[in-house]
Amino acid sequence: MEQLSGELKKAVPKNKVKKKETNDICTNCGLCCYLPDGSPCKWLRWKEDGKSFCEVYETRLGRYLGQGFYCEDIMKVVTLYKDCPYNELKMEKAIKDNE
Ligand code: SF4
Repeated sequence: MEQLSGELKKAVPKNKVKKKETNDICTNCGLCCYLPDGSPCKWLRWKEDGKSFCEVYETRLGRYLGQGFYCEDIMKVVTLYKDCPYNELKMEKAIKDNE
């Protein structure tokens, strides 16, 4: 992940940096967009190149997905998904939270 200089960090709003980083590491595999029964989120879409995207990405957080689940920030979801780049970040966060 790209490191920003101290000067640039001050100039860029924190939420903008987080959003850029989030987009940078997601490989768009779509694995986190399925409900526990295996059915896909109703806003999950697929491109011709096999990559997924969320039809309501900008407003996805907090949306009711069905079966008692709401869309959450991937970093707040404890589930690890095969080959997801967020797995490592989640593990690091879990270790930090338990220190
Ligand atoms: S499982 Fe990880 S890599 Fe796959 S779409 Fe979700 S966040 Fe992106």
